[in-house]
Amino acid sequence: MANWCEVCDRPEESDVCDVCGAKVVETKREPVPWRWRFFAVVSVIYVGWRIYQLISWIAH
Ligand SMILES: [Zn+2]
Repeated sequence: MANWCEVCDRPEESDVCDVCGAKVVETKREPVPWRWRFFAVVSVIYVGWRIYQLISWIAH
C-alpha cells in the first residue's frame, strides 16, 4: 500500500515525497470492510421492514 504525503495531499510510493521532500506517513485510508457494508444493508432492510409493519398496523 502506498504512503501518503499530507503536505501535497498525494500518494507517494517511497518514504520521502518526490515533490516537497517531506517524510511521508503510512496511509490509513483503507476501503470499508465488507462486513460493515453488509451490516449497513441489513440495518436498512430491517428499518424498512419495521416501517412497513408500522404503516400496515396504522392502516388496519
Ligand atoms: Zn509532498
